[in-house]
Amino acid sequence: MNGNYLIEFSYLLASILFIYGLKGLSHPKSARRGMNSAALGMLVAIVGTLLHHEIIDYTWIIVGLLIGGLIGAAMSIWMPMTAMPQRTALSHAFGALAASLVGISEYYQHIVAEPNGTVSAFKMTALGFEVLFGSLTVTGSLLAFVKLQEWMRGTPVTYKGQNIINVSLFVTAAVIFIYLIYDPTQSTLFYVMVALSFLFGVLLVLPIGSADMPVVMSLMNSYAGLASAATGFAIGNNVLIIAGTLDGFSGFILSILMCKAMNRSVTNVLFGAFGSVSTDTGPGVEGVMREVGADDVAVQLAYARQVVFVPGYGMATAQAQHAVRELAEVLEHKGVNVKYAIHPVAGRMPGHMNVLLAEANVPYSALYELEQINPEMQATDVAVVIGANDVVNPDARDNPKSPIAGMPIIEVDRAHNVVVLKRGKGKGFSGLENPLFFKPNTGMLYGDAKSSLSKLAQAVQHA
Ligand code: NAP
Repeated sequence: MNGNYLIEFSYLLASILFIYGLKGLSHPKSARRGMNSAALGMLVAIVGTLLHHEIIDYTWIIVGLLIGGLIGAAMSIWMPMTAMPQRTALSHAFGALAASLVGISEYYQHIVAEPNGTVSAFKMTALGFEVLFGSLTVTGSLLAFVKLQEWMRGTPVTYKGQNIINVSLFVTAAVIFIYLIYDPTQSTLFYVMVALSFLFGVLLVLPIGSADMPVVMSLMNSYAGLASAATGFAIGNNVLIIAGTLDGFSGFILSILMCKAMNRSVTNVLFGAFGSVSTDTGPGVEGVMREVGADDVAVQLAYARQVVFVPGYGMATAQAQHAVRELAEVLEHKGVNVKYAIHPVAGRMPGHMNVLLAEANVPYSALYELEQINPEMQATDVAVVIGANDVVNPDARDNPKSPIAGMPIIEVDRAHNVVVLKRGKGKGFSGLENPLFFKPNTGMLYGDAKSSLSKLAQAVQHA
């Protein structure tokens, strides 16, 4: 009995730490603290669970801990920061697989292995949710991983009647689920439902292009959370119910926020096949790209009153965050006002730029969100685009036929001068041409972002 109190107390403490952790994650300044308290919460919950009197042998638990720990360590060592979305997709797949397997084993234990075994309608409902959400998240997340890793093409895979097939499949699985609540003993139907859910995960993600993967990932996060909450109901575990619900809803809120940042609806993301080859994307780009040298740009920067840095995915691949801060310091030393404009979907994961710039000790007070910086663009002498492309594409604002029409952008083209740091004529994530690069007030400084920034810092010192 006392052991049970201790377990429940550890769950309560873990839940408080999770909520505290989520609160910390709401701001870049407190995010690290938030992560640490959530991790501590997880440790407390695991230790509490290990005290359970029903555990008669720890061997398999230790084997599981070792395998899980090794996979986690390998992922953190060999998967670079730039592959963070893939890492997250794999983590979701593993979490959901755990929930799914617990559901299947609970069903097997109570129904298949027991002669005349049955479960209550409540427990069957929880088990059904658990395996439905869990299984579709496993295959959906694995396919998201494959697409993000570019092991298959990232463009949407579409075919005639796709949405009807997907909806029919889901409805069939849901009908079986409802039937099982009335008669849980139909084990064949249970396994058919599991198989349909696995298949549905693949079919759900197939028509979604890589550009929409972040939204899919946070939706999968939400499903994995709901599967864990259902697991909690199925096996009577409070901390799973609380953690799963927190995970489920925060994932859902994040998906909605990301859709807002891209000016899209969740249904459009899921069923719109965004990024598929489109025949009419409006007028083509006009003008020529103008190449500029580091020395000329350095003079522009040194004599500017305000410079705005706009980092994107290229800053992450070049690992140029420290070089950005160094250039900013040289400019500030010369009396230039330096600001950083952060687009919500710059890079490849939410908060990507914030994480990198925080690592380089850029002060939070210098970071400006899209709504804050856009009104300042006209008063900006030079906007320096560092490996960003889609998030500064004026077509999103000016061309209603563009596939990214309506996505909010950082309006660098309104600044007096724009300098774009990129290696060559490579496209951004959406694969679209960017008219910004052809505008008369834009200069292209070609080269790896890190080396271009170091050259600029040196040249500014001598300007
Ligand atoms: P982007 O549109 O993908 O463009 C990145 C640019 O960086 C490329 O045009 C590339 O041009 C350049 N680049 C690559 N490596 C470089 C290097 N070493 N040095 C200098 N430049 C380099 O990036 P973005 O503007 O940040 O936009 C993000 C896109 O990703 C959006 O479409 C967004 O929807 C999507 N997305 C976002 C998330 C998220 O949650 N943040 C997740 C997944 C996808 P060159 O090849 O010519 O160098």
